Amino acid sequence: TKAAGRNGYHFFEASMNTNAHNQLELMQDLRLALERREFRLHYQPKFTAADGSMTGAEALIRWHHPKRGMVAPDNFIPVAEKTGLIIPIGEWVLDEACRQMREWHDAGNQQWKIAVNLSALQFNSEHLPAMVQSTLARHRLPPESLILEVTESTAMHDVEASLLTLNILAESGVNISIDDFGTGYSSLLHLKRMPACELKIDRGFINELERGSDDAAIVTAIVALGQSLNLRIVAEGVETEKQKDFLTALGCNDLQGYLMGRPMPPEQFLAAALAVKAV
Ligand code: C2E
Ligand code: CA
Ligand code: CA
Ligand code: CA
Repeated sequence: TKAAGRNGYHFFEASMNTNAHNQLELMQDLRLALERREFRLHYQPKFTAADGSMTGAEALIRWHHPKRGMVAPDNFIPVAEKTGLIIPIGEWVLDEACRQMREWHDAGNQQWKIAVNLSALQFNSEHLPAMVQSTLARHRLPPESLILEVTESTAMHDVEASLLTLNILAESGVNISIDDFGTGYSSLLHLKRMPACELKIDRGFINELERGSDDAAIVTAIVALGQSLNLRIVAEGVETEKQKDFLTALGCNDLQGYLMGRPMPPEQFLAAALAVKAV
């Protein structure tokens, strides 16, 4: 600390060490998190734009760290990806999401679909299709009620390899959604070959809609593109009535965002869904 005041270099070095130490600690804790049952799934409702009916939910992972409290997925999913831990964590997510959806189906909501995010490492694992099949079977869930969300950049990274995986999954009846659409570099030709059923417009574009930026033009173009390819268009991150009205008028099929519902623990979800139904 004496030297740090003089040239700042040591200070910089010290904070680097703390950061590296932090990361290492996070990694070690992440290894134990599964067996310590520190993960939970929250569910964010999705709605049909035209009539406001609920179509299901996206499962989003939450980590309740014993000391740090809630750690956001953006802060540990990349670490889990780097260490390979995303494979067992991802299997847990799919299993838990399917278990929960089975419960909701049994409660009379058979029309609901559950959307689960796949990381790049999971998507590129040759075991994925078999894992998905056995998980669905274990919970007696029809494949049509599962939506697997793959980001545009993951899907387009190695198009031929992606097509092999996506075709196996799609042929088994599972729905494919291209997430964070508009942030990667899709060629129209490649997109046309993907057996996807929906495009999810990245939240960043929805965010800026009202600021008179280019984003209204981009969103308009994505909706037109999706319609021409017969894909459902989902807008995520809808926060205002204005955004909702604009997207609905444009022809977006489904809407998701804080305006209609935040991600919530399962025990809140059913009550919230019933409240929507009652309106
Ligand atoms: P994503 O898949 O793009 O998920 C959407 C994110 O936007 C979620 O953040 C959600 O809570 C947030 N969001 C939804 N509506 C709104 C809104 O109206 N306004 C704002 N500001 N945000 C909204 P979350 O839950 O923090 O997740 C962040 C990312 O972490 C996800 O982005 C996804 O890439 C990843 N992730 C989350 N759960 C999983 C998982 O189970 N597996 C994998 N592989 N990745 C996951
Ligand atoms: Ca997603
Ligand atoms: Ca997204
Ligand atoms: Ca995202």
